[in-house]
Amino acid sequence: MEDQYYVIGQPIGHSMSPTMHNEWFLKNNISGHYSAKEVGVSELESVMTEFRSSVKGFNVTAPLKVEIMQYLDEIDPLAKAIGAVNTVINKNGLLYGKNTDGIGYCRGLSFVLKKPIEQEKILIIGAGGAARAILYSLLHLGVKQITVTNRTLEKAHELVDGKFMNEVNIMSISDAEEKLGQFSLIIQTTSVGMKPNENSIPLSLANLSSNTVVSDLIYSPFKTAFLKDAEQRNAIIQNGLPMFIYQGALAFQEWTGIFPNTIDAYTLLERKLGGTKC
Ligand code: NAP
Repeated sequence: MEDQYYVIGQPIGHSMSPTMHNEWFLKNNISGHYSAKEVGVSELESVMTEFRSSVKGFNVTAPLKVEIMQYLDEIDPLAKAIGAVNTVINKNGLLYGKNTDGIGYCRGLSFVLKKPIEQEKILIIGAGGAARAILYSLLHLGVKQITVTNRTLEKAHELVDGKFMNEVNIMSISDAEEKLGQFSLIIQTTSVGMKPNENSIPLSLANLSSNTVVSDLIYSPFKTAFLKDAEQRNAIIQNGLPMFIYQGALAFQEWTGIFPNTIDAYTLLERKLGGTKC
């Protein structure tokens, strides 16, 4: 009998995780199968009872990344600091939670950075769950020059929480637009640019310096209006696919001890999404 793995969340039908993980099981000769399971908050408790005895590991996506924490036996310190879990490992009936989103993002970014990440001057646009995972992972890696901007400035203040005032600066969107030229890496973490508002951008790139790295967490559309604009201004651009692949690869490594082939996964998913290298 194959070991069973899942991604749970709602909605989950669109998830590309089964395609990616099943390809990795196949390529690594591991007897495992990964499926997507639609689970809402109200079903989570009973699904956890079932998973404790039947599943080797699972990923967790919206809206369960925070809710899941109460059902776990242990949570690693970075996931605790982020306040969300996306990967669970079942160790003989004990459920251990991690968050691979932020570190996965940083691993994917290494392809487009020309200097060590600690030397980048970083602007994070957004203050939601993804921004939180990335901010805490950057701080975990020792990065110190970080600015956060967000439509709702209060949320940026809540994110930084008074704890990281030496490392993290907060700016309004209009200030960030004006001072954009001082940043070497811009991380777009809002949902602005997704359907049905594909033509929207979260801030003006008029003052962007050329050769700035501009990264957008969205990968559908494959190249957002924000990335298209940045590309026209000679930025180095990256979409959210590397983050998606690396968060999955780190989860796969937790479950199997093997770090899978991320380059082949990129080619497979790029084809599925109908995109061209970005
Ligand atoms: P979230 O917690 O709901 O946060 C949403 C963020 O977007 C907030 O900062 C919010 O600002 C901002 N926002 C939403 N609508 C806006 C608008 N019309 N104008 C300006 N700002 C707006 O969501 P999340 O979980 O962080 O996810 C954010 C994005 O990251 C989504 O597109 C998601 O698909 C993507 N993501 C990608 C990956 C990947 O693997 N590539 C992983 C996780 C997430 P306010 O605070 O002002 O509301």
